[in-house]
Amino acid sequence: MKLENPKFTAPADADDRKAITPVICYPPETLVQPDLSGLRQLRQSAAKTAEVTAGARDAACIDVPAGAFVRVVSVDGPQVGDLNMWNRHDLTERFYSGKTRALHGTHLSTGDRMWSSFPNMRPMATIVGDTLDWYGFDDFGGSVHDVIGTRCDPYTGRLLSGDDYHHCCHSNLTRALANHCDLPLHEAEMLVHDVLNVFMCTGFTRDTGQYFMKASPVRPGDYLEFYAEIDLIVGLSACPGGDCSSEHSSDTAACYPLLIEVFDPGQEARAAHVQPARSAYDRTHGTG
Ligand SMILES: [Zn+2]
Repeated sequence: MKLENPKFTAPADADDRKAITPVICYPPETLVQPDLSGLRQLRQSAAKTAEVTAGARDAACIDVPAGAFVRVVSVDGPQVGDLNMWNRHDLTERFYSGKTRALHGTHLSTGDRMWSSFPNMRPMATIVGDTLDWYGFDDFGGSVHDVIGTRCDPYTGRLLSGDDYHHCCHSNLTRALANHCDLPLHEAEMLVHDVLNVFMCTGFTRDTGQYFMKASPVRPGDYLEFYAEIDLIVGLSACPGGDCSSEHSSDTAACYPLLIEVFDPGQEARAAHVQPARSAYDRTHGTG
């Protein structure tokens, strides 16, 4: 947070320095663009093959084969979801929210990729449907589906309030992954990572740069849909913050379940899908 009263005097050319036009850190023009119209066509032939519900203040995991579609649906009431993704065959390859933010911006929507952690760094999933894409950015600078938040967790809650709360998204995802993969709880915990905040409406305050949230515009029936680029385990927690209009990390907010559905275009279509290659960087890190 910036100090209101800086200790150092601005130099004579301060205004000139501040007036320099910014440049985009990672221009995305060289990224291979997804074939959205081809995926839309493929989606027509996909049939629902599986579903799981993340109960209120709880999480669930589901397997999604490469070449299939997975949809997160709002049911019953406005609810935010914290989403994790792992390579089903190697749980150390997982969603990298920070790099995804660097490549696509603070909030994701149709056409954006969800990138995996180093040394893989390849698209794990492509967003193909977003019923909240009309929201854009509001007058506060807020938008939906952010990759800026981390996930609500009992450690920050302990730090700030001194209390232990066990149904934060971090703990919900830990329990769900442990159950799904039959892992010891603390092993699963180390694999839980920063999330895509599905349906959450967030931004940074213009004056102090603080992370803010506001009531999500999501309503029952809204969804965010992905195309699985590799074999995935998708984990989703129905955040204890509910629509995140007031607080999280407590049992105060009204909470609703979230539905995860898998749509499969068929074995033949999935077999034709070319999975993205892992990064070609040689990993010698200057020693070669
Ligand atoms: Zn949460």
